[in-house]
This record gives sequence, structure tokens and C-alpha cells, in this order.
Amino acid sequence: MRWQQGRKSRNIEDRRGSRGAGGGRAPKRGGSGMGLLMTAGLVVAGLIFGVNPMQLINMTGGLGGGASGGGLAGSSGGVQYDASANQDDQAGQFVSSILGYTEDTWTQIFRSYGSTYQPPKLVLFKGAVRSGCGTQSSAAGPFYCPGDKQVYIDTDFFNELQKMGAAGDFAMAYVIGHEVAHHVQNLEGTSMKVQSRQRQVSKTDANRLSVLTELQADCYAGVWAHHTQKNTRFLEEGDLEEGLNAAAQIGDDTIMRKAGHKPHPSMYTHGTSAERQQWFTEGLRNGKIENCNTFRKARVNL
Ligand SMILES: [Zn+2]
Repeated sequence: MRWQQGRKSRNIEDRRGSRGAGGGRAPKRGGSGMGLLMTAGLVVAGLIFGVNPMQLINMTGGLGGGASGGGLAGSSGGVQYDASANQDDQAGQFVSSILGYTEDTWTQIFRSYGSTYQPPKLVLFKGAVRSGCGTQSSAAGPFYCPGDKQVYIDTDFFNELQKMGAAGDFAMAYVIGHEVAHHVQNLEGTSMKVQSRQRQVSKTDANRLSVLTELQADCYAGVWAHHTQKNTRFLEEGDLEEGLNAAAQIGDDTIMRKAGHKPHPSMYTHGTSAERQQWFTEGLRNGKIENCNTFRKARVNL
């Protein structure tokens, strides 16, 4: 990826504390990344890409916040991240650049529908973070909180991705694109509709609705990549393969199998490897958000 050329977003809050400047590892192209999956990796694997956004809404409503404790990145007190003053912080540079690409591209797409895109804020944290959706540990992976409209990322997660066999800078860009896609779903009102439907149905049906939401986010991530590529030519040879490989590595069936379990479709919350690849490809290929209606395809009326 030629991500260095990208405009750096200003919508980033740094809650990594004193380690905020520097320390981040540079995203590497390719890489071996097929290391042993350790327990911590599996925990991350099982929850990758979230923390179901619906659960986060539920947590806000059910627990009412109020968590506290040492070592937490608080709900405020972070500083606006200044990419130009942190040139050595490769992880921060990378996230700022990709977020910038999402802002430019989604602004353009929304405008083409006569609408205005309101970009999300992105919070960088280490370890654990207090969000509008409750306190979350970085073991849960990057997440989006619809309540406060913020994306939360512990950039150490990028190392976990490599360990899972999803190496490469575009694999990481896809993760950010996917989380921003949840923000788009929130702006569209889809997140709220899904959440209210989930309260009325069985656990299995609620999981299915979660899968359809996640697959739509994968498709939107593809739509974003399609238009960004058209506008900026930010992809290089091998990048698409990295993205598709990442989509495969984080399918529910693959994750369950790697963890030594028999895949249980009724427990899927994000979709199979094949489904995730298929929807990401769908968005990538034609760049049309209309083609990402996973709900209509599954004959689900929200
Ligand atoms: Zn997701």
C-alpha cells in the first residue's frame, strides 16, 4: 500500500498516555505472520472485529456505565493526535492516513446521494479503554461504539492480526475500513433497527442479524477500497490478496476450527470465511452500496 501519501486525519484522539509518541510498530507488507496461535491470540481471534456493535449498545443501556479502575484510558483526557508531530509513530501515522482515506471517500459517496457524511472520531488506546459502550479490553479487538460514534483501536492488535495469519498493511486497512463501515451503518439507521429487532427474537436469530450486519460492513469496506483506489491508486500488487486473506482468517468457521471446536452455525456472529470474502469482494468489485444489502438478500425486513 502507498498509505504514506495519504492526508492524515485530524479526528484522532490519543489515549495511549506517555507512550503515545513513538513506540508503534511500522506496518509491514506481507510478512510471515504464521506464528503459533497462543491463548491470548485466540481470545482476540474469537472476538475479532468486535465486540458486536449491538452488544455495545446493550451494555450502555444495561450497565449504565460508571466503571472505574486504574490503568484505564479514560473517557476523556486524551489529546488530539498530531500526526505531523509524531513522524516516528508508524502505527499512528498509518491509522491517521487510513482514517483520512475513509473520510474523503465516504464524504464523496454520501455527497453522491445528496447527503453529508459526518466522520467518526477514532480513539487510540493501550490495554483497556472506557467508551460510551462501557469499559473494553484490547483483547476484544478494535470496535465501534454506536452510542458515542467512535472507533476504538489498540494498535498492538495489528501484531495479533499477523499472528493469526492475516499479515499485510491492507489487512490492517480493511480492519479500519470495517469499523468505519459500522459508523456508516449507524448513520444510515441500520444499527438501531437491527438492535431493536434483536431484542424481539431468539438468540439464534439475533446472531443471524449480527452476521448480516457484519457482512454488510465487510461489503462497505470493499466499497470504500474500490473508490479510494479509483481516486488515489493507494493499492499495490498483493494488497487485494492480503485483504481477502484477512477476510478468510477471521471467518467464524475458521476461528472456531482453529480453536479446536466444531463450527456451530447458530453461534456465528460475523459470518463464515467464504461469506466474508464474498461480501468484501462484492463491494470491491462494483463499489455500490446498494449491492451490500445483505438483509434483503436474506429476505430480512428491518
Ligand atoms: Zn464488525
